[in-house]
Amino acid sequence: MSATGKVVNPSDGSLLAEVALGGAAEINLAVAAAEKAFLAWAALRPNERAVLLHRFADALEKHSAELAQLESLDVGKAIAAAEGFDVPFGIQCLRYFADLSTTAQYSVPLAIKNIEARTWRVPYGVCGFIFPWNFPFTLLCWGVAPALAAGNTVVVKPSEVTPLSSLFAAKIAAEAGLPRGVLNVVNGEGANAGAALSSHPRIKRMSFTGSPEVGKKIGEVCGRNLVPCKLELGCKGAAVVFDDVDVDSAATQLAGAITLNTGQVCCTATRWMIHEKIYDRFVGKVTDVLKQTKIDPGMDRDTQMGPLVSEVQRQRVLGYLERGMASGARTVLDGGKVSPPDAANGFYVQPALLEGSDDNVCCREEIFGPCAYLLKFKDEEAAIAQVNQLAYGLANSVWSADLKRANRVAERMVAGNSWINAHNVFAYGLPYGGANLSGTGGGVNSPETFHDYLRSQTIARPLN
Ligand code: NAD
Repeated sequence: MSATGKVVNPSDGSLLAEVALGGAAEINLAVAAAEKAFLAWAALRPNERAVLLHRFADALEKHSAELAQLESLDVGKAIAAAEGFDVPFGIQCLRYFADLSTTAQYSVPLAIKNIEARTWRVPYGVCGFIFPWNFPFTLLCWGVAPALAAGNTVVVKPSEVTPLSSLFAAKIAAEAGLPRGVLNVVNGEGANAGAALSSHPRIKRMSFTGSPEVGKKIGEVCGRNLVPCKLELGCKGAAVVFDDVDVDSAATQLAGAITLNTGQVCCTATRWMIHEKIYDRFVGKVTDVLKQTKIDPGMDRDTQMGPLVSEVQRQRVLGYLERGMASGARTVLDGGKVSPPDAANGFYVQPALLEGSDDNVCCREEIFGPCAYLLKFKDEEAAIAQVNQLAYGLANSVWSADLKRANRVAERMVAGNSWINAHNVFAYGLPYGGANLSGTGGGVNSPETFHDYLRSQTIARPLN
């Protein structure tokens, strides 16, 4: 392997590691290893595979402090969040699918006249996975757990920006006794390793998490090769806040939605529709909360918001704010660069709040930073229409003390997820996925996801 890539610590701009960058040759080797491992892995009984996956989960748990540190150093995320959410949730997901696989139905009898028939569910073979940089470990677990539990082998290409926890997880898998070739991780650039993986002729199923722009490319390639493909893409989530809420609580929670992972969360709320009767109070509270957010290096224990993942991402966020203001948005809270003491070279920005018309670029496009766009509404219908006017459809939330109204609005917002009186609601077993521009292919985290990684075969015998 000739090329290496630099992995940078976003909290201070220093070099964290130099990591090998694979290309088509390494993807070929990984697919060959996964193919070689497939038959034996698929031939295990589900409970045998589950034991091995739980052993892997045990080993990850043993290393969870290191995994959380890697995640914080690599992504810049607050260590408390990496410890409290990213790592444990990933591991829980692995265990959830291991358990689910032991009670799933693999052979379903069919009641057909004069034919003895059944549907037989079998794994596909080698499945490819490409992930983004914002939740590397959690997404790795969400993605590969159902595929492995169903008896597939996998080749993973993590984001070249944040490959460390995925590479460490692969090492832990080998140490924990997961058979060689079952889980393969090849770090590399998208146009190189990523393109080689998604177009590989011996991949039987593909899964991509990332931007809609790249997702379309992956979907095209898979379409040409007739490879089933799961796409989990970006969003511009809305929050609709009615005038009967506890304003302080809703404002505090929505402030948290844009500072979580420094706003680099695909499903978070970045378009806030606030009822006109509470608009000024809401804006006052949310501004106070955001001004007090502690912005510091990810590894500092009391950090509430770390840096953005890279200078490229910081330029993207600042560029959006400039374009938004140039086209008529007003700032409620400025945003912009900030340098915490002792971390001058990190990629920090302050939270930004904008307001203006709903055709502004900052209201319509995914910025992927700690920014929200505020809109005022008067009636329910208008708010729902505003939510649904974008092509995205990953997650929205509705906030109201009137649960009948909240459920009514939740049903009418077009997305994979509609949350009530909260934003970013996750649990293993709770389906999560996108509609329209935010994704196709069934989502993650649910029993259906497990079945997505099994293909159907009909077995039939005419009865004379
Ligand atoms: P991205 O699309 O730029 O990159 C994602 C991955 O694709 C990376 O591993 C990259 O190397 C690879 N890639 C890039 N070009 C490729 C190509 N031509 N062929 C194959 N692979 C290629 O996204 P990003 O900047 O890493 O992440 C941010 C995006 O991910 C946002 O849009 C965010 O909303 C989305 N996201 C979605 C979810 C979800 O569950 N829906 C979760 C996390 C992030």
